[in-house]
Amino acid sequence: MSASPESAPLTAAQAGSDAGLGELCVLMKLGEIVLKGSNRKLFERRLHNNIRSSVRDLGDVRLSQRGAGVIIVRKPGASDLEIAEIADRMANVMGVVWVHLVRRVAKDLDAITDIGVRSMAGREGTFAVRARRRDKRFEMTSSELAGYLGSKVIEAYGYKVNLKRPDNTLYVEVDRDEAFVFTDGIPGQGGLPAGMSGRGLVLMSGGIDSPVAAHRMIRRGLKVDFLHFSGMPFTGPESIYKAYSLVRQLDRYQVGSRLFVVPFGKAQQQLKTSGIERLQIVAQRRLMLKTAEALADDLGAECLITGDALGQVSSQTMTNLTALDDAVDLPILRPLIGMDKTEIMDHARRIGTLAISELPDEDCCTMLTPRQVETAAKIPDLRQIEKRLDAEELAEHLVSTAQVHKPSFLGDEAPSRVAPASAPVATPA
Ligand code: ATP
Ligand code: MG
Repeated sequence: MSASPESAPLTAAQAGSDAGLGELCVLMKLGEIVLKGSNRKLFERRLHNNIRSSVRDLGDVRLSQRGAGVIIVRKPGASDLEIAEIADRMANVMGVVWVHLVRRVAKDLDAITDIGVRSMAGREGTFAVRARRRDKRFEMTSSELAGYLGSKVIEAYGYKVNLKRPDNTLYVEVDRDEAFVFTDGIPGQGGLPAGMSGRGLVLMSGGIDSPVAAHRMIRRGLKVDFLHFSGMPFTGPESIYKAYSLVRQLDRYQVGSRLFVVPFGKAQQQLKTSGIERLQIVAQRRLMLKTAEALADDLGAECLITGDALGQVSSQTMTNLTALDDAVDLPILRPLIGMDKTEIMDHARRIGTLAISELPDEDCCTMLTPRQVETAAKIPDLRQIEKRLDAEELAEHLVSTAQVHKPSFLGDEAPSRVAPASAPVATPA
């Protein structure tokens, strides 16, 4: 996670764990605070549910909303390490902008001062105090409180004040029944709570792009399922293991992910033997999309998501993308369409998928690839091929062969039959 002077990751040890200090807990600042009325209620309800899901293996975790923009998460009696683990997980929950490890103290000037001054020990450079009262019944105004604490910090350590660009910031937030004292924080994901914008289905290869596309759409509030086409039975299962690991990593950002795996090798061969040559790749991708659409229909997903970026490979020309759109009625979202490969790779590194994507595998697309790829596929030609093959029926058949997995980052989920009832179930190692 990135760290500016004011946002260096805070370890529990840094926050101090003397018995004399107040209870350590997690304070989160929320984003998209422009949301109003029923949208805000929806935002909060989703977010609370998503937070609970992401810590459901950690026992008695308590959550409380403070005003529009702040949530406090506590686990009474927990060790500092456990609280730090909760903070780490909160940094992956969509809709959270900042995560702070904070000390919860009595709403009492002496208690606040004691912990505030102690948490500024051993600092270098300048400092500022920012005080805020969400409950105005307190003996001082916010600026009086900040000034008072500032004077006590100077008295204790002699630091210089810099209100505009401090190297260190001491925050105090006063609520109705208690106050919170903290210094640094870690940046969260921002965006909207997963599920708030509806459902989508991601076409997930083992490559670098599709996991990034998934992350970007989860961040805009979609809850997504994943569909992977393997080259089985003509390739090994490696691409499935990769897809599984990628989905497990992405599950940190939207707990409860499902991965559907369709063996695509025979269908690819069928296309190949129909003599379509240069159109193989586009025809294959159209069949993937038709299969995805049929599955989306079963799952209640309202859109398909791919990792296409304009011009990145020869199948991603404008003409070919248009030919892909023609294959289905559902909208195809392509969040990477205007991104460079280097930007996509940076994003993949940040969300923890790059190293998995870079593992070797044999993707279904690397087999049966024609020597020359059509860069300007004609829609009538493609439609004719599909008519001959009865592509719609083939797509329905492919959906019926899907295996479903639940790659959970919590590691506690047994695979289950959420997919078509006939689907066999297996878990990759
Ligand atoms: P990626 O890095 O995501 O594989 P790419 O740059 O390699 O993308 P293509 O291989 O042309 O590009 O694939 C474009 C998109 O088609 C992918 O981002 C993905 O959404 C979808 N796709 C490709 N192969 C598969 C597959 N085997 N299973 C599911 N979806 C796939
Ligand atoms: Mg690929």
